[in-house]
Amino acid sequence: MSNPSHSTANVLVVEGLRRSFKQGEVVIEVLRGVDLTVGAGEIVALLGPSGSGKSTMLQAVGLLEGGFEGAITIAGERVEKLDAAARTRVRRDRLGFVYQFHHLLPDFTARENVVLPQLIAGAARPVADAHAGQLLGDLGLGARLDHRPSQLSGGEQQRVAVARALANKPVLVLADEPTGNLDEFTAAKVLAEFLRLVRGQGSAALVATHNIALARQMDRVVTLHEGRLAE
Ligand code: ADP
Ligand code: MG
Repeated sequence: MSNPSHSTANVLVVEGLRRSFKQGEVVIEVLRGVDLTVGAGEIVALLGPSGSGKSTMLQAVGLLEGGFEGAITIAGERVEKLDAAARTRVRRDRLGFVYQFHHLLPDFTARENVVLPQLIAGAARPVADAHAGQLLGDLGLGARLDHRPSQLSGGEQQRVAVARALANKPVLVLADEPTGNLDEFTAAKVLAEFLRLVRGQGSAALVATHNIALARQMDRVVTLHEGRLAE
């Protein structure tokens, strides 16, 4: 964030994040004191091989799992000790999620999958419908609005998942290997579109990947190694 024209407000501050898992007698220390700051609108790649703790870290930041030590601040609010209802509020109002597998609702159309989070956040139906159509159209799915996930290709499914994650203009998008289930060509295309939309609406993003070429397309790369982060 050396460009002074960027906002200097941080959307994410992680301090001393630790997480270990007990496997019988053995304790595996997956995160051993992770520190990370993500600025407003900044797109950070979380790089590391399989098993290095990327998903574990994103689950902590996404308030999806307990059992962590350390402090997490999202958009200025300390969140690691919030109760379930407050966590749900932070996820709904501040965060967007994209996973390796799309997790779309199978009985709903592409458009409905993107409309739903907007309705939950309080948007009026016509506004949510129009916004979903616009986002999906921008991702090249203008002719697929009424398709169900099973009627879409893998790349199209992930584009819908991207539109759903961005629908409420979250300050921070958390993406866990968002193109990890796609062939190389489609992965590059979907990632480029994801980055374009995230940049266009000014969200920040933390994107887990084991792919160095994809990571280099982001603003900054941090690497998980032996439970800690290095730039
Ligand atoms: P990555 O996403 O980088 O592939 P993960 O965060 O999924 O890595 O896993 C990191 C390590 O933590 C792995 O060794 C994994 O086996 C272990 N781990 C993750 N979740 C659990 C769990 N719920 N119970 C036990 N071990 C776990
Ligand atoms: Mg993972």
